[in-house]
Amino acid sequence: MRDNTCIFCKIANGEIPSATVYEDETFRAILDLNPASKGHTIILPKDHYKDVCDLGETAAQKILPTAARIGKAMKKSLGCTGFNLVQNNGVSAGQTVFHFHMHVIPRYEGGPAMVSWEQQASNPEELQKTAEQIRQEL
Ligand code: 5GP
Ligand code: ZN
Repeated sequence: MRDNTCIFCKIANGEIPSATVYEDETFRAILDLNPASKGHTIILPKDHYKDVCDLGETAAQKILPTAARIGKAMKKSLGCTGFNLVQNNGVSAGQTVFHFHMHVIPRYEGGPAMVSWEQQASNPEELQKTAEQIRQEL
């Protein structure tokens, strides 16, 4: 399914040109316009899904193997020593384009690692309570 107002639908289906790294019947993987590092790639399904909660079964099954394959190719071709897989869902999580995509961000020796986040101390009771809240809805 396509959304005619969605720029990633147009890019994924080749209507807008892009620096394509990989393409098959399910995905097009392209270089990000504003890369976090050299080779920063985003994998776009050709069908429109707004986020991971909406993702179709085939794309869901294939996304991790595809990301791993691209990451391995980045290590061989670009000389990165690691890579982050990042996938944002919702405005509060930093999603800016509402067509599911997975970032593959190469990381280089001596360069910055994963986008950092602030972590806090926890206590066992609070963790148990929070785990129970989530379990209730599964
Ligand atoms: P999000 O923040 O939604 O996870 O990521 C959206 C990403 O798409 C951003 O990293 C942004 O730089 C990239 N992006 C947005 N518009 C375009 C575009 O037209 N072409 C390409 N190649 N990347 C885009
Ligand atoms: Zn779309």
